[in-house]
Amino acid sequence: MDLSYIINELGEEREHYFNAIAPPIVQSSNFAFDTVAALRDLLLDEYNGFLYSRGNNPTIDILRQKLAALDGAEDALVFSSGAAAIFAAVLSQVKKGDHVVCVRDPYSWARRLFENILPRFGVDTTFVDGTRTANFEAALRPHTSLIYLESPNSLTFELQDVAAVAQLARSRHITTIIDNSYCTPLYQQPYLAGIDLCLQSATKFISGHSDTMAGVLTGSRDRIRRIFASEFLNIGSGIAPFNAWLLLRGLRTLEIRLQRSADSTRKVVSWLKTHPRVRKIYFPLDPDFPQYELAARQMKGAAGLVTIQLNAGSRGQVEAFCNSLQHFLMAVSWGGHESLAFPACATLRTEDFDVNDPRHSLVRLYIGLEDADYLVADLEQALKKMGEVE
Ligand SMILES: *Cc1c(COP(=O)(O)O)cnc(C)c1O
Repeated sequence: MDLSYIINELGEEREHYFNAIAPPIVQSSNFAFDTVAALRDLLLDEYNGFLYSRGNNPTIDILRQKLAALDGAEDALVFSSGAAAIFAAVLSQVKKGDHVVCVRDPYSWARRLFENILPRFGVDTTFVDGTRTANFEAALRPHTSLIYLESPNSLTFELQDVAAVAQLARSRHITTIIDNSYCTPLYQQPYLAGIDLCLQSATKFISGHSDTMAGVLTGSRDRIRRIFASEFLNIGSGIAPFNAWLLLRGLRTLEIRLQRSADSTRKVVSWLKTHPRVRKIYFPLDPDFPQYELAARQMKGAAGLVTIQLNAGSRGQVEAFCNSLQHFLMAVSWGGHESLAFPACATLRTEDFDVNDPRHSLVRLYIGLEDADYLVADLEQALKKMGEVE
């Protein structure tokens, strides 16, 4: 399906709403029926229509169709956050006694689900270095029911060979889930590479304006329908109609936002590579990135996130760099219009900072929609300020 068709037309039956170009926000929790027979039909299988907005809602339905098509999948569910999508997806695939193989360093709240919550229900997880497919194979057990991927991750961008892991899992009848937030379906379509369930934090690029939280889960009609009828309705963490409308609006510009951010990111990366105060750069489409070849083969692009290891002699220097930025805002998250900086040392107690641990001098940058030269000038003055402190 044509990307322009998906973004501008798919699911938009304008004749049902006065030919309005922007879809309506159907701000209703509830839907009425003319006959007992019609009500009974939907109570039997809520998937098929509009009964109650914890399940289906017309505004959200338009969004679901677009998000499924973007992934090349058959259906989608939209949640109130990416974390909710992760929770429902994982919960749907495990039962007591099962084992999960998860890529090392997944998104922090995915890791906490595997480490803190699932063990309470008798589900164990093995974390593996996902840069080698053989590591997944070696970790499998007779009761492994799920392989959980995130390629690339959103700090140091380690990749997995998505098609190879999908093939391994299929040969063992193990379900695969991938967190595709970094690439979005525009730069990577894991469903078409054989992954069973794809999820994204739509809070990031799909929304694109730092004004709503959301999560997306896509897969085959059969899998999504089963999750809808169980975890989705039971957890009750579906997106609200207004937030779905914000995502529809965000989608209109997704392609050009990613393109702009990708172009600026390339410019910023090539400038950073020449700067003596930057020791190392992590960016998957940088030819010096250790998995560059896999990234170039598997991903159609990369935008926004780039992590630098500062050539810093102290915590004070890392902090001086971050505190001196004038246009990059210091914050978690990413994917909006605004450029951001996030220092890894903010996750550490000050006394735990070790100048010899390269991870402690990492600063993740997100390159938003500002002009690249404007951002480079900001980085330049902040790197200079960094050199002025002990
Ligand atoms: C932000 C993020 C999530 C969680 O999404 P929320 O919308 O914040 O709940 C999951 N995975 C990745 C890679 C993320 O960056």
